[in-house]
Amino acid sequence: VAVTAIPESKCRTLVAGATGFIGRFVTESSLESERPTFILVRPGPISPSKTKIIKALEDKGAIIVQGLINNKERMEKILRENEINVVISAVGGGNILDQIPLVHAIKSVPSVKRFLASEFGHDVDRANPVEPGLTMYLEKRAVRRAIEEAGVPYTHICCNSIASWPYYDNTHPSEVTPPMDRFQIYGDGNVKAYFVAGSDIGKFTMKTLEDPRTLNKMVHFRPPSNYLTINELASLWEKKIGKTLPRVTVTEDDLLDLAAENRIPESIVASFTHDIFIKGCQVDFAVDGPNEVEIEKLYPKDKYITIDECFEEFVITSNNNKEIIEEVVVTEAFDDEIGNKKQSNK
Ligand code: NDP
Repeated sequence: VAVTAIPESKCRTLVAGATGFIGRFVTESSLESERPTFILVRPGPISPSKTKIIKALEDKGAIIVQGLINNKERMEKILRENEINVVISAVGGGNILDQIPLVHAIKSVPSVKRFLASEFGHDVDRANPVEPGLTMYLEKRAVRRAIEEAGVPYTHICCNSIASWPYYDNTHPSEVTPPMDRFQIYGDGNVKAYFVAGSDIGKFTMKTLEDPRTLNKMVHFRPPSNYLTINELASLWEKKIGKTLPRVTVTEDDLLDLAAENRIPESIVASFTHDIFIKGCQVDFAVDGPNEVEIEKLYPKDKYITIDECFEEFVITSNNNKEIIEEVVVTEAFDDEIGNKKQSNK
């Protein structure tokens, strides 16, 4: 299929879920790339924290439109009136099926050349977590099938884990500092995974939008510099904070037990944690199918933010930063003193 390239500055992008965790990274990157960026905001009362997010995005140039993705007629009107070229959905795990009416709306608006559904994780046709994570994947699979049946041009972003400490019961890990008291290590802690910074998820998602090589493809994020085990993550964090922490094992059964409790969202996260860190779902396959590509092969010159840099950021910006920095300073001063003594003893 021939693809007409849309000049970057003209690519009018609509983000649904811009006030969400992943949606914010994507919207920020869209604005940075100077695309006209529209954000869909749900009508009705908005919490003060969401109002702040919307205002910050608006200040950077985002254009607000009100609507719900599950309202087909309204979405069709929004897409048509604003001549939208790309639709990115980053709605949360509880609203995955809301995207089906959106798919039908996109189908009837020819200006839309690409749809990115709310994926932003694993290849959901391949990975097979235990319940309740499986239900979310079944819904994401249903959205994929609806896109294929409608013939809507798509790109699926399979960005793996967000760079942070992968807490087994927290949906938005990068909003929390890595542990300061003890590490909880899943199984033997030696299964590898990919950890990609939120801003890189946004930045590389933007690169795919008008790229003909990503049309109707799954795009896997596998930067070699961000490929670590949880034991390696722990050692890296210990180096950053200048102290070692006890390591407690969370067994496969512990994770399965929490998943079986069916507490939402904790049990969903437990089932994904099991899939990633026990079963190795991010690394147990080769990206070699006809409809999949690796992002780092598409853009080989681009650098990724390393986990080391992310952890550095946590040290600086976390709520505990004063405490951590003081500890690091004390450790460094102590090391310097020892170093000086060693020097003067020479
Ligand atoms: P959030 O729950 O943080 O945000 C969801 C957003 O969608 C909010 O802006 C919400 O609006 C909006 N929304 C929900 N329903 C509708 C609707 N019907 N119409 C319009 N807007 C709607 O989502 P997450 O960022 O946690 O999840 C987004 C995707 O990223 C999911 O597919 C999830 O699986 C994935 N993910 C991946 C992670 C990773 O590590 N790779 C980590 C976390 C998520 P409002 O503000 O009004 O509520």
